[in-house]
Amino acid sequence: MWGDKRYHTLNYELRKIFGQKVIKLSLDGGFTCPNRDGTIGRRGCIFCGEEGSGEFAGSRALDINEQIKEQKEFMSNKWDTDKYIAYFQNFTNTYSFCEDLKEKYYSALSEEGIVGLAIATRPDCLSEEVLHLLDEINKKTYLWIELGLQTIHERTAKFIRRGYPLKVYSEAIKELGKRGIKVVTHLIFGLPTESRRDILDSIKYVADTNTWGVKFHLLYIQKGTDLYNYYIKNPFHLLNRDEYIPLVVDGLELLPKNMVIHRVTGDGKRDLLYGPRWSLDKLKVLSGIDRELKTRNSYQGKKYGLTF
Ligand code: SF4
Repeated sequence: MWGDKRYHTLNYELRKIFGQKVIKLSLDGGFTCPNRDGTIGRRGCIFCGEEGSGEFAGSRALDINEQIKEQKEFMSNKWDTDKYIAYFQNFTNTYSFCEDLKEKYYSALSEEGIVGLAIATRPDCLSEEVLHLLDEINKKTYLWIELGLQTIHERTAKFIRRGYPLKVYSEAIKELGKRGIKVVTHLIFGLPTESRRDILDSIKYVADTNTWGVKFHLLYIQKGTDLYNYYIKNPFHLLNRDEYIPLVVDGLELLPKNMVIHRVTGDGKRDLLYGPRWSLDKLKVLSGIDRELKTRNSYQGKKYGLTF
């Protein structure tokens, strides 16, 4: 239905828009996060590593243009393409003065082959001024904003120290939607306070927002995080592959067909990953999801809008 997949992948969407393979270049804009600098909290989200949820991004010692050059070179070993999305990934990429944001976003856009921007941030870091800037950029290029919601359940949000209530997310979605700015929502599967039903409720909630895309993450434990320290003292059940794959497929079935699926697996760094180690074999997870969809004779959107 979407090329060779039974779900609407980002790869499919970008090929449709740009007529060829487009890849993301992960950048570190040199920002921090209000959940780490003391404005909201000092320790950050419980799973957040030293590098602020963007362990694969370029080095902040380099400026944006240098990072783009370096990332292009690195990616050229893997992909034969000349179109890229500049992805501001590390920490909170709208958390600075507008002049600083503007300078960094436009530096990225000035590089050859950059056809769009992806900006990861928090829904509580979208001031009127920032929204105005994003609106301006959205009119000039292909833009999406990524928001780390992770869950709709307030008790879990407290456990992970997300630092904002659900209504802040829904307000942000509304404001971005008003300006026609695309939003990608992140959700985490396997948080220790959550049942399968809780996870599916989060997916159903997101399905009914005007989110353009989603990222499904597996909860993984990375050494050096507070989650790792918590787990060592209070071991809890980590999803195994046979639980995770059907859950992803349940989630895909609940989403509308036009929602773009940006990610369906975790992406921990091999040397820092404590568990679950099976998540390192991404190909096995992806092929397991394809197989499960086929076995069920199912596809994204099959159960969208149904009550259960
Ligand atoms: S919002 Fe992102 S960068 Fe900030 S603490 Fe949470 S995961 Fe880390």
